[in-house]
Amino acid sequence: MLREDLIFVGTCDIAGLVRGKGFPTRELKARRKTGIGWTHSNLMQTCFGPILDTPFGTGGDLMIVPDASCEVDVDFGDGSAPEHFFLGDIRNTDGTPWECCVREFLRRAVKALDKASGLGLVGAFEQEFVYTGAEDLPGHAYSLGAFRRQGTFGETLVAALREAGTKPDSFLAEYGPRQYEMTVTPQPALRAADHGVIAREMARATAFRRGERTIFSPMPVADGVGNGVHIHFSLHEKSGAPRTYDKKGPLGLSQVAAQFAAGVLHHLPAIAAITAPSPVSYIRLTPGRWVPTTADIVKQDRGAALRVCPVFGAASEKKTASQFNLEFRVCDAAASPYMALGALIFAGADGIARQLTLPEAEAAPPLPHSLGEALDKMAASQTVASWFGPTFFEAYLRHKRSELAHVAGLQPPELCARYAEIY
Ligand code: GLU
Ligand code: MG
Repeated sequence: MLREDLIFVGTCDIAGLVRGKGFPTRELKARRKTGIGWTHSNLMQTCFGPILDTPFGTGGDLMIVPDASCEVDVDFGDGSAPEHFFLGDIRNTDGTPWECCVREFLRRAVKALDKASGLGLVGAFEQEFVYTGAEDLPGHAYSLGAFRRQGTFGETLVAALREAGTKPDSFLAEYGPRQYEMTVTPQPALRAADHGVIAREMARATAFRRGERTIFSPMPVADGVGNGVHIHFSLHEKSGAPRTYDKKGPLGLSQVAAQFAAGVLHHLPAIAAITAPSPVSYIRLTPGRWVPTTADIVKQDRGAALRVCPVFGAASEKKTASQFNLEFRVCDAAASPYMALGALIFAGADGIARQLTLPEAEAAPPLPHSLGEALDKMAASQTVASWFGPTFFEAYLRHKRSELAHVAGLQPPELCARYAEIY
């Protein structure tokens, strides 16, 4: 059959979906500068597809410009079209960054952290999902049987992750029926989010080639097991020296890391609207699911919002310091990794700037119980508003509120089914 290579350029938008446009590969040279055309109201496309509300109307032009360091070109070798895409930035037509670009949001957060502390953040996304191609047998949480039953899906996925430029760290059978988890190695913030997006797409692409699906929805079935996206992170000096650990600090945290964590906990009820941004996210965030329900930090506890992770087999203080990291667990795949990591970093940077101290364990406030509650907390936060700027802040809230109104009245089983179709 006659064929010509195509490339796609896109970004993982505030609905947590990668959207953009394609063009013939032979045009790449020119497209590196001019990108592809986009418009302001594309930001308002809900996860269901339609734009339900928009402050932008039908006017205006933007471009998504490919980032040369963010090219994925993976040929699965089965005759299907290669996964050839770039992640990119949304820019105004004069080339300046658009204020509502999600990667720009994360870049601004990285700058805020640098300003507050002179430090950078290194992070890694650990993502859970259901693979529909595995047979569902009861009683096989973490079992070799469940690991085996995905066939060669895992092997193809790991190969695709590596081809795509990420470094796969683990692939495992999780607790839930047909549930699996993949982690890629830590990278500086923007690259970490890029890799989080790419990893999700490689899992989807691998399943697609087998006539199957991956389901990353936070809660695929209302009475089932949740899919979390856990963000591991640590702070580093420009030289690369780790700055998260201090043997004598609270929970083993350095002063700056404790301030960062305090900032995250302080803003958590509001930023949950960014990191857990779907109505089904709040079905996941309920007791008994190895998920957080309060804005707390605990050493080595999988029920905490911030988990101080263990250090494995480190013989020296130096090795401990280089492994030491925190895990943010109030996140799921309805969130764009750029937005979730950006919100986390902005909140942490604010904690450093204001020299916040860790709250008493008993003082941990509950997390919001619904997306509506989280959005109200976000809307009331001047600080969160300042991270977005007025246009983006209004657009984000309107996007999410219109999505919520669209599914109002659906009971949990139907709600979960709707989101499982999308994510
Ligand atoms: N599935 C849980 C979640 O929704 C996490 C389980 C685990 O600790 O791996 O976050
Ligand atoms: Mg897990």
